Amino acid sequence: MKRSLKSAILIPFIVVFFITFIGITSIQIYKFEQQSRMLGEKKILSITNNIKTKLDNFLKETMHFGMVIGNVIASNEYNKGHDISNVQDYLHSTVTDVYHLLPQVEVVGFGSSSADYVGFRKGENGDNQLILKDSRTKGRLTFYSGDSVSSDALMTVNNYDPRNRPWYLSVLEAKNPIWSTLYTSIDVYNKTNSTISASIPINNKSGDIDGVVSLDINIEQLINFMLKLKSEYDATVYIFNDNGELISNSGSDNISNVNYSRGGITLDPVIIKSLQHISDFKNHTFDKVVKYKTHVGDEGFYNSITPYAAEGTEDFRWYIGVSVSQSSLLEVSVENRILSWLIGLSICTIGLWIVAYHINKIIYPIELTIEAADMLASGHKIGKIKNDGEIKEIQTLVNSFNRMSLKIERTIDKLKNQAFHDDLTKLYSKAGLIDSYQKIKDKKGTLLVFSISTFKNINDSLGYEKGDLVLKEVANRLTKFSEEDSLIARIDGGKFALLSPRELDFRQSKTYAKSIKQFLTERLIIDGVEVAFRISVGVVTDIQDYSGIEQCLRNASVALSDGQKGQGRISHFSREMLEKIEHKTQMCADIKHGIDNHEFTPFYQPIVELKTGEVVGAEALARWISPKLGMVPPDRFIPIAEESGFIDQLGELILLQACSDITNGIAEGKWTDDFKMHVNISVLQLSRSSFLTSLQDIMNSTQVNPNNLSLEITESGLAENKGIFNRNLEAIIAMGIHVSIDDFGTGYSSLSYLQELDFDCLKIDRAFISTLTEDNFDSSLTAMILNISKTIDTYVVAEGIETETQAKLLNRLDCQFGQGYFFGKPAPYECWNY
Ligand code: C2E
Ligand code: CA
Ligand code: CA
Repeated sequence: MKRSLKSAILIPFIVVFFITFIGITSIQIYKFEQQSRMLGEKKILSITNNIKTKLDNFLKETMHFGMVIGNVIASNEYNKGHDISNVQDYLHSTVTDVYHLLPQVEVVGFGSSSADYVGFRKGENGDNQLILKDSRTKGRLTFYSGDSVSSDALMTVNNYDPRNRPWYLSVLEAKNPIWSTLYTSIDVYNKTNSTISASIPINNKSGDIDGVVSLDINIEQLINFMLKLKSEYDATVYIFNDNGELISNSGSDNISNVNYSRGGITLDPVIIKSLQHISDFKNHTFDKVVKYKTHVGDEGFYNSITPYAAEGTEDFRWYIGVSVSQSSLLEVSVENRILSWLIGLSICTIGLWIVAYHINKIIYPIELTIEAADMLASGHKIGKIKNDGEIKEIQTLVNSFNRMSLKIERTIDKLKNQAFHDDLTKLYSKAGLIDSYQKIKDKKGTLLVFSISTFKNINDSLGYEKGDLVLKEVANRLTKFSEEDSLIARIDGGKFALLSPRELDFRQSKTYAKSIKQFLTERLIIDGVEVAFRISVGVVTDIQDYSGIEQCLRNASVALSDGQKGQGRISHFSREMLEKIEHKTQMCADIKHGIDNHEFTPFYQPIVELKTGEVVGAEALARWISPKLGMVPPDRFIPIAEESGFIDQLGELILLQACSDITNGIAEGKWTDDFKMHVNISVLQLSRSSFLTSLQDIMNSTQVNPNNLSLEITESGLAENKGIFNRNLEAIIAMGIHVSIDDFGTGYSSLSYLQELDFDCLKIDRAFISTLTEDNFDSSLTAMILNISKTIDTYVVAEGIETETQAKLLNRLDCQFGQGYFFGKPAPYECWNY
């Protein structure tokens, strides 16, 4: 399909626009990604630093303090065997300061290598509560409500051995101050129980570990801090150790649900995803910051894991994890971005709309022109196209088109006027009649077609000028006679049509046609010469019953040609006439088919000498033996063959067969040497210049003796034909071929004409023979003809002898030859037995 001008301009424009838009958007998205990564990293760094500082506060200072306490205990040798009272006193004196400076510390304690323990825990009201296990508590770990053994014991634990506690064990292994692993405190008053301890070994002089100082930190504080970070930064933060155990997190899950003793479990999918990602690092230590991106649902997260080591404790390593969601990073800018896209899109759409509007405005006159050109081409009137375009070239184009179309319309109008009117009579032409009829709303009425039967003769004899005058006069008379609302046209040479809107029946229309005909043929004198002519009328009533005026005109013409057999008649169209024509058309096709398939053949009817009854010749009579129609007599196909021009071929065919049969018949002894074969030749055949050549060819090919051949020509043909016809006739006679005048007595040939022709046989039509009686025979026309024939020295064949009486009477009249069913019916060559 071809593209429209508008789409040809607009589509590339829209495509370029969208490509540009998509390009810009992609660059923006890429930049956004970059920007968000940068921001994410910044944010993560800041959070990580924050946590580091906090952890430093939490851990480093705690460790330092622990080490100071450890130093004091070691250097003063407070720990002596099973006596830990000095340690108790020292701790009691320092613990208030510890809690003041390091609020994260929950318990400050000391476990000795002899399995004793002393410590102070933070009471609910800011007081210090003693925890003791030595001889005084009979080896049971006792929690006191106050800071001395004199206070009430709150709880006792049997079989407590500090040396088995995680904080003690860690030191045994490291031999240096160290952070314990995460463990569950046995302190039932501690809310979370999750504890880590700064453990400091107390070495004796020989370097063995005498005891361990531990400062316990409640992890909950770390968690609270992280939650604060989370809300401040909108980030997920978490800390885990070398074993991948989660120490603290800002996860959304309820902290009390987290069972740290099982290595730390969280329900926060962000943390889970991040830890999964670094599961490779599980049980591995790494020193560098690790950064990666994860996805949870539709959301992207920037993650970073930073190793953290408390100062002076190189082996101890935690990992600070921070995850920041992409959307939280650029929340504002995403909105801004979408807004800017929307604004951009809107501006572009408006721009596109403006462009489309202008293109439309520019193209509109072109479209109008195209439409108008199309209408003009299909024959419609278009008028002037509005030319309010702004483009100079287009204005010129439209102006030129307007001028051109105006000219074309005027020319068409002129041509139409010429085509629709007859110059000579000023009546409508056939086209004009058709056009006017189409404009009539109420299509009904009666159509009469008048044909001047001998118009050609008028032209020939009086000349065209006078012929024109006759036409003009007929047109005048027709106009005068007809009603005003009738349409009158000269449809062809001497043919006029009158379309009356009145619906006339058969009788009425006949009377109407008759009166017009009479008026038209009234005495007409042109330049002092009276011109006589006949008029035939073809009538079509109820024109609304047919598909259009053209069909009515054709029907009237059919009626005319049907009526023209009797010129000057009034003939009403009937369906049968059409059927007859259709039949003729069909017959024509059948005849052609018959000729091609050799379905035509001559039958032979004997001609006898009346005196002796001896067969002296035969007449070849064409027969059509058709597989479709059966045996068809010549009356049914000869006239059609003559009308359609097939008669030449058909006649030649019969002549050829007859000639070849003569040669064979004589050779076989079937026929005598002077046997006369009569073959019918149509006057049409004889009027052709080619006839002689084909006759000569047949004579040559069949080697027939011209003396055995007589060509029958109808008498009526003789009178009407001259020229080639006569020349052919003379040539035939010159060739020694005989000529018979057929159907003699039915025509009007003058005797003088007959005398001119050198024919040698007259065939008396059977109409004269059938009327012969004993009473009238000697005064009959037959007797007269026979007398004439004697004066011009020809012999006579009487046709159609059906009875013996007829044969005898003819004999008495000295008629030499006869032909008829009495002697024999026409028969095919093979069945000839006369
Ligand atoms: P036609 O030339 O006058 O032929 C004589 C017609 O009278 C033949 O009719 C023949 O069968 C018929 N006829 C003969 N004896 C009798 C009789 O005793 N009583 C009656 N009632 N009729 C008799 P057919 O064969 O039907 O031919 C009709 C016409 O067809 C012929 O009239 C002739 O004009 C034409 N025709 C036949 N064959 C040809 C042909 O080959 N070429 C041309 N151009 N015309 C042919
Ligand atoms: Ca004949
Ligand atoms: Ca005849």
